[in-house]
Amino acid sequence: MIAVSACLLGYNCRYDGKSKKDFTIIDRLKSEKILPVCPEQLGGLPVPRDPSNLVGGDGFDVLDRKARVINCYGVDNTTAFVDGAYAALNQIKALNIKRCFLKNKSPSCGVGSGAQLHLESNGQAKSESITGVTAALLIREGIEVEGVG
Ligand code: SF4
Repeated sequence: MIAVSACLLGYNCRYDGKSKKDFTIIDRLKSEKILPVCPEQLGGLPVPRDPSNLVGGDGFDVLDRKARVINCYGVDNTTAFVDGAYAALNQIKALNIKRCFLKNKSPSCGVGSGAQLHLESNGQAKSESITGVTAALLIREGIEVEGVG
């Protein structure tokens, strides 16, 4: 069984209420059992929602309480992002899943490839490859994580 970011499978769970359906990954996994996961929804955030950015570091830093996740209106969503990451991990562990495909360029699911906007602690926007909160937690827990998109 393989866990996959739900938006890649066509679920309209992104911040803008849309999906990022990826026919290549759907075709590649057509013979596999799939667990769709959307960590931001699992953390209690609605659809649609205001977009959030990592501020002051990457997903590993958020887990270590050295960085935050802040939305475009300055609301601190760190707790929801961390809760969602652990909720996804719990589902993945319960099903003994060892491998995931996660959507890049996301403050939750990004796997460190593909540019993603984030904010430095001085408030300056910066675009670079960065690992999101859920991806960081799964990597730390020894789950094989592959970025898509
Ligand atoms: S990238 Fe991850 S958190 Fe964002 S909508 Fe897709 S599954 Fe949900």
